[in-house]
Amino acid sequence: MLKPWGKTVDDLPVVMDYRLAVAPCVICGRPGTEVNHWMPQMLADDPEVKPEWDKWAQLNAPLCVTHHRLWHKKVTPWMHGFGRNGNHD
Ligand SMILES: [Zn+2]
Repeated sequence: MLKPWGKTVDDLPVVMDYRLAVAPCVICGRPGTEVNHWMPQMLADDPEVKPEWDKWAQLNAPLCVTHHRLWHKKVTPWMHGFGRNGNHD
């Protein structure tokens, strides 16, 4: 109970700030991160990956756009759009 106002926490309006709802970049600490999967999502339908995709999908790290692009540029340069212009296609 929030005594001065006669309200409970459930009465408070909820505003979700998705920019801050996820952890900051593990490299530079910036907010506004994207989820970087250990196993690239584009491989989710790969026959060797698909049976265990739910577990692979849990292995991830929050990265800002800059570090997410850098990760893909260095680790998955074969992915369409990475390693050439740095854009996530
Ligand atoms: Zn970063």
